[in-house]
Amino acid sequence: MDTYDIIIVGGGGAGLRAAIAAAESSPKLSIALVSKVYPMRSHTVSAEGGTAAVLRDNDSFDTHAKDTIFGADFLADQDAVEMFINEAPGELIQLEHWGCPWSRDPDGRMSVRAFGGMSVNRTAFAADKTGFHMLHALFQTSLKYESVNRYDECFVTTLLVNDGRVQGITIINIYNGQVEVITGKAVILCTGGGGRVFPFTTNAAIKTGDGMALAYRAGVALKDMEFVQYHPTGLPGTGILITEASRGEGGWLTNKDGYRYLQDYGLGPPTDEPVHRKMELGPRDILSRCHMQELEKGRTFEGPYGHYVHLDLRHLGENKINEKIPFVRELARKYIGIDPVYEPIPVRPVVHYMMGGISTDATTKTTLAGLYAAGETACVSINGANRLGSNSLTECLVFGARAGRSAAEYASAQSSPSSKPLEALARDEQQRLDQQFLRKEGGKERIATIRQEMHKTMEEGVGIYRNEEAMQKTCNTLSQLRERFKDISFDDRSSIFNTEVIAALELDFMLDVAGAIAHSAANRKESRGSHTRTDFPKRDDENFLKHSLAHRTVDGPRIEYSPVTITRWQPEERKY
Ligand SMILES: Cc1cc2nc3c(=O)[nH]c(=O)nc-3n(C[C@H](O)[C@H](O)[C@H](O)COP(=O)(O)OP(=O)(O)OC[C@H]3O[C@@H](n4cnc5c(N)ncnc54)[C@H](O)[C@@H]3O)c2cc1C
Repeated sequence: MDTYDIIIVGGGGAGLRAAIAAAESSPKLSIALVSKVYPMRSHTVSAEGGTAAVLRDNDSFDTHAKDTIFGADFLADQDAVEMFINEAPGELIQLEHWGCPWSRDPDGRMSVRAFGGMSVNRTAFAADKTGFHMLHALFQTSLKYESVNRYDECFVTTLLVNDGRVQGITIINIYNGQVEVITGKAVILCTGGGGRVFPFTTNAAIKTGDGMALAYRAGVALKDMEFVQYHPTGLPGTGILITEASRGEGGWLTNKDGYRYLQDYGLGPPTDEPVHRKMELGPRDILSRCHMQELEKGRTFEGPYGHYVHLDLRHLGENKINEKIPFVRELARKYIGIDPVYEPIPVRPVVHYMMGGISTDATTKTTLAGLYAAGETACVSINGANRLGSNSLTECLVFGARAGRSAAEYASAQSSPSSKPLEALARDEQQRLDQQFLRKEGGKERIATIRQEMHKTMEEGVGIYRNEEAMQKTCNTLSQLRERFKDISFDDRSSIFNTEVIAALELDFMLDVAGAIAHSAANRKESRGSHTRTDFPKRDDENFLKHSLAHRTVDGPRIEYSPVTITRWQPEERKY
């Protein structure tokens, strides 16, 4: 049994930022950083477009707050948004001092580019590999703290809760299949999103919502889970993201007639300006819906992986593409054999981000004593019903740092957990893992089949457009899949890097997350942000200006609601 003051689960942007903040708070605190992959392989590494903060004189905290709150369709907590926006610039400058190579203007200042829903240019970037460079800077910095002890390639299976507070975790060491216990006075979950519950997604294979399910099982509510963001420009087939920066630099979306169709949806008309703040830079939820309407009008292309439209970058020219979005060119060439300098890129909406997650307050605290959450897995909430692109890398920094400091303060005032009750809990967990996964005998269900059926029902019921009947069907199918999951079978019996066992554990978590999404969606009888119902097409502030909270029960999710904090921006119709 290894013992620490603070355990951080996740080595992405939020987890590493939390580790540094906790280590800086007090050199006396011992910190475990646990990750199912080597930290530099966390999904943060693949973020391309950039990270938002007020950095220029033509910008202001109020404008960034207003853009975020409008983008969120008024479901964000406005006090949390203001804290986020005030702390954002300091975090980006701090990252600069830690060695992040931001792209620069000729006068030496950090460059900022346009992004969807942002009314001025405020998205800082490092070419179109922003996440890669940010994660590198954070990882290198974390290495200088001797108090941070890494557990790479260790998969967390449960939170150990005793005496009303979290006191540790159990892990499977993927390298040798051993189940181990780590105790801690505080645990921070920084486990990222769960886009993998859907079939077409920009999310890495590891984004399976594990942390959300861990907290949910420990009695913490999942907030606003019905809000799932589709990004309008993923590659058909793989779902690989073509960053919004390609439109921020001036790219166009055209339908099969070569027509910039967004002008038909209240986002036009097109202008001669190099960057159009409405059209292609409308928010993601709206652009994804426009795509589906073009599909209905028969104005999209049809390919081997279904419908798509064109992202046209040709007018930007080779030099600009090479300088500002080289990775877009590389991805298009490698994955679909198209060079965007000469040909448009086929794109379709793909699941990208989860606005919902583990319910926390603005200090990152959950309702379970000792448990904190930050990054995409958490819902503070600053993203409400629709996140603006480039706010989430910043969210990882601001709330990662807050989580590190909050947990450090809490852990410093706690006594060490006593080991006896934790040993008993760990024995129970070992037994559960043996029976259901590690030594499971028999079974006739394939893991891949259940996963595929989950994907199918999620896309059918809780995709871009939703209605009562389809959502109820998805809720029912998910509970049948939960039953069938009990009968899964295993072919791989080895203990070294057993990826089949990990895939089963991830599917187990995903079924919980999928259930929370579908039930929260079915209960919200209005349309807001990314949640669009054909049977309730209007936003209904009277009845639904509130956060949904999914609680886990034996009979499936129970949905409750909590108020949204409104300070200075009164709800109004969201027009662009
Ligand atoms: C392709 C792509 C491009 C994006 N581009 C941008 C962008 O330009 N700007 C922007 O603001 N946002 C962008 N986003 C969103 C943003 O990158 C993510 O929201 C953010 O990086 C999430 O960081 P995180 O630290 O919360 O989680 P992640 O980086 O996903 O890290 C999660 C960590 O948790 C660990 N973990 C998970 N489960 C377990 C478990 N059971 N046991 C142990 N460890 C576990 C993983 O190993 C990993 O280290 C993009 C997202 C994608 C997918």
